[in-house]
Amino acid sequence: MSFASLGLAPALLDAVAAIGYDTPTAIQSAAIPAALQGRDVLGAAQTGSGKTAAFALPMLHALLARQGTRRGLHGLVLVPTRELAAQVGDAIRALVQHLPSTIKVSIVFGGVSINPQMMALRGGTDIIVATPGRLLDLARHNAIKLEGTATLVLDEADKLLDMGFADEIAQVLALLPAKRQNLFFSATFPPAVQALATALLREPVRTEVNDEAAHEPDIAQRAIEVDAARRTQLLKHLIKEHQWKQVLVFVATKYASEHVADKLRRGGVAAETFHGDFSQGARTEVLADFKAGRMNVLVATDVAARGIDIAQLPVVVNYDLPRAAADYTHRIGRTGRAGASGAAVSFITPDAEAHFRLIEKRQGKRVPRERIAGFEPTESAQPASATASAGSPAGDPNGGIKGKRKSKKDKLREAAAKAPA
Ligand code: AMP
Repeated sequence: MSFASLGLAPALLDAVAAIGYDTPTAIQSAAIPAALQGRDVLGAAQTGSGKTAAFALPMLHALLARQGTRRGLHGLVLVPTRELAAQVGDAIRALVQHLPSTIKVSIVFGGVSINPQMMALRGGTDIIVATPGRLLDLARHNAIKLEGTATLVLDEADKLLDMGFADEIAQVLALLPAKRQNLFFSATFPPAVQALATALLREPVRTEVNDEAAHEPDIAQRAIEVDAARRTQLLKHLIKEHQWKQVLVFVATKYASEHVADKLRRGGVAAETFHGDFSQGARTEVLADFKAGRMNVLVATDVAARGIDIAQLPVVVNYDLPRAAADYTHRIGRTGRAGASGAAVSFITPDAEAHFRLIEKRQGKRVPRERIAGFEPTESAQPASATASAGSPAGDPNGGIKGKRKSKKDKLREAAAKAPA
């Protein structure tokens, strides 16, 4: 299939060629003709699938066609993070650069001063790429009028919901005209994402051509059974044995990130923490150190790790399993990027086994359990809910005498201490 066969305006074909795209990706071949007809689209797509151009090209096509007639906002793209807002906005601007008409693309996100964004929106905009909270603020300040929106795009809908934007999305929807086109993209489809898609979309064209066949990240998943108290030792052992130079380790809490990084440092491993308390400046600095190889291990929480994009990260370790199955996909997607191969290693404590089975079910893939000599688990699962303890803080890596069983009372006490607030 060629771009010319998709029905795009000649100016867009020139722009696509100028950017260097030869052939459409699977999601582009499926979504573009449908979107050009005004249909809603439901796309199962990962980063790297070419989804940005899949929704941007039809919007630009419509904008070229309307030149000189209607003005006002045409396309609203909702994204979960500032990093994605910048990335998507820049990708659309790169296309616009090669077009004969002026099309204004605005990028807005929270965490920075609102005034420059209000100034930039003066005189209107054609396409706005926004995180939900900031968009609502701008709408409240009358800096943007959403009632003329022709096309709504939800990009990375699963992440939008994971990050707790359900309310903001509902508020944005209330400001949009009922008659509009909806383009919905998500890497995973847990029930909440499916429910949102069902509520939003009218007879969508489904593009579940998972582009993964072509671009499937080559991620070897491993699940190693180990007692909670032995995880840091096991991590040190794996780092030494495999000579891992760059490992992203996920833990459940800020406390755990500090605890694990501290133990690693004391064991002679160059490790740093990465959690939500960091300022933007500190985040950037730690990431730069990690990318430059000045440290080998970054111990991160989920919130902090969103938006981390490190080319060819070789290993991701789930020290604690993520609470939401969708996060598992996001976490392991940090490795094996851009065609590189990667490994995702999950530590499965006896209590986390049931939760990991759920994760396997969600991703439709079994991961064989392994045991490493010297680190075989000696505990058994606690009677309390296994999922509740899946995101428990790190246990004392040096505690727990091997072979000594804890009393039932001890276990209950621990479970209570570990239970998430
Ligand atoms: P995305 O999934 O939209 O983030 O795109 C992933 C990467 O693929 C970006 O660097 C795009 O520039 C690139 N890309 C998108 N569409 C094509 C295409 N048809 N041919 C080659 N590269 C593409």
